[in-house]
Amino acid sequence: MPVKPRKIPMRMCVGCREMKPKKELLRVVRSPEGEVSLDATGKKAGRGAYCCYQAECLGRALKQGQLSRQLEVQLTPEVEQSLRDTMQQLLSQENHL
Ligand SMILES: [Zn+2]
Repeated sequence: MPVKPRKIPMRMCVGCREMKPKKELLRVVRSPEGEVSLDATGKKAGRGAYCCYQAECLGRALKQGQLSRQLEVQLTPEVEQSLRDTMQQLLSQENHL
């Protein structure tokens, strides 16, 4: 049996709209309760969107409304701010690499 090349799952960043390997992207998830958060583990239940590990991409996705469109939810300024803060925390930890 010939070995098939493994396909890397690709996802699109909601900020820069580039296709990247799923594991290089940060998952943003809307829980069944409607709560939106960054999901560094990629295992939370709910509807997800993907974003680069970059504050610029998250900022762009928020500014252009891409994230709320993808998640089909309205984002309040408070939620947007907490997403930005969480992204900064993740970037400062750098434990995703
Ligand atoms: Zn991006």
